[in-house]
Amino acid sequence: MEAIKYLLWGGLAVISLLWWAAEQTSFLALEGVFAWRNVLTQYSGIVGISVMSLAMMLAVRPAFLERYVDGLDKMYRLHKWLGITGLVVSVSHYLIVSAPKWAVGLGWLERPARPPRPSLPEGSLQQVFASQRGLAEGVGEWAFYIAVVLMLLALIKYFPYRRFFQTHRLLAVTYLAFAFHSVILAKFDYWRTPLGMVLAVMLILGSVAAVLSLLRQRLGGRRVAAEVTAVERLSGMDVLAVDLRLENGWPGHEAGQFAFVTFHADEGPHPYTIASAWNSNGDVRFLIKALGDYTRALPERLRVGDRAVLEGPYGRFTFAGSGGRQIWISGGIGITPFIARMQALAAAANGQPVDLFHSTAQLTPEVSSRLSADAERAKVRLHLFHGRKFAIGDLLNGVENWRDADIWFCGPAAFGQEVRERLVALGLPAQRFHQELFEMR
Ligand SMILES: Cc1cc2nc3c(=O)[nH]c(=O)nc-3n(C[C@H](O)[C@H](O)[C@H](O)COP(=O)(O)OP(=O)(O)OC[C@H]3O[C@@H](n4cnc5c(N)ncnc54)[C@H](O)[C@@H]3O)c2cc1C
Repeated sequence: MEAIKYLLWGGLAVISLLWWAAEQTSFLALEGVFAWRNVLTQYSGIVGISVMSLAMMLAVRPAFLERYVDGLDKMYRLHKWLGITGLVVSVSHYLIVSAPKWAVGLGWLERPARPPRPSLPEGSLQQVFASQRGLAEGVGEWAFYIAVVLMLLALIKYFPYRRFFQTHRLLAVTYLAFAFHSVILAKFDYWRTPLGMVLAVMLILGSVAAVLSLLRQRLGGRRVAAEVTAVERLSGMDVLAVDLRLENGWPGHEAGQFAFVTFHADEGPHPYTIASAWNSNGDVRFLIKALGDYTRALPERLRVGDRAVLEGPYGRFTFAGSGGRQIWISGGIGITPFIARMQALAAAANGQPVDLFHSTAQLTPEVSSRLSADAERAKVRLHLFHGRKFAIGDLLNGVENWRDADIWFCGPAAFGQEVRERLVALGLPAQRFHQELFEMR
């Protein structure tokens, strides 16, 4: 999570510095609301289109960037924060442009006389851009209204995920409109500066990403067809175990990674951790908890022999770390990456001591004995918490030298945050705490 904070703030600082270097205005000499308005319109416009370009690029799942942001789950979190920043900056941009005009209309401000426009050589690029200003302003304004509604819908969790998924793609159209608006209305002199070069690259990449997104294309992960070979209801757990046999083309996966799985085209892909280690015969297992409308209906809808499509593998929750031992903590269905890892360790042990703390509200004797058998084969010390919640004291008392460990956490976000804060306060280096975000919105 730290990486995405640095990337967000670092990116904003770099673009601001580039703009400052390109602007070459003496800010102290600016006089009057309209002089400031002109400068701030350019600044907010440049920052706005920059963050939206980056958000657009991340939307097409560029898997090769996962290593820099610690996985696709964090990449989506960065995408979300870039979107929120874009929303705040574009609202500011709109107000900076409009508020002085409203004030003039109300008689509170006097508009200064416009300086005469320089005459531009006929047919020059600058003259072509100047002739499109009215169109670019109108396009930008309408794209702004639509984008604000779409972004608010993305942030309102009550708006169902399925509808969010369908409407969110339209932001690619508004992005293309903003790109046109920015090319025409950014100060022409900027294009001759490093800011202009960076902006041109971002606009090109962002536009390519927008088109890919509209065509439902992704840059990361393979798409491979599969057949459902078994469906088992884990009664008393609200969990469905689904086995699939993959067709050729899957590159294999590391224990802890996830895939987007489409069982039904009308529903689209859902992310699930692959709850089995990779084996070359192409069998994979998913454990799917009934957490919403679709996953609740899945036991009725899914049959052996059904077709599915997997996209992936994604994620960096892959148990690499510098600590001398590992401590795994899971809550509820967050157990899935650890099941895969236990299978991988049973097949190829690495001798590293591992303690698994699993806290769950629902547990049947059968599932409990399956977990114990997996742990025994992997030589993992299993600490099960059912009926009473796991507390930090259990870890501190249960594992000697816990400060030397890498901690891997998968479960509810608030539980993860609490555990992280407590352990870091007690001396765990923050970079040794690894967390899978089970939520992408
Ligand atoms: C990296 C990752 C790994 C996951 N692994 C597992 C797992 O192994 N087992 C398991 O049971 N659950 C897992 N989940 C959660 C699972 O994806 C959601 O519970 C499921 O998609 C809910 O779908 P729904 O339509 O039933 O619920 P809804 O009520 O529609 O959604 C509940 C929440 O699930 C998320 N969600 C829903 N649909 C999607 C989608 N298409 N894409 C992304 N997020 C969506 C949203 O945050 C939404 O708010 C994982 C999630 C992520 C991000």
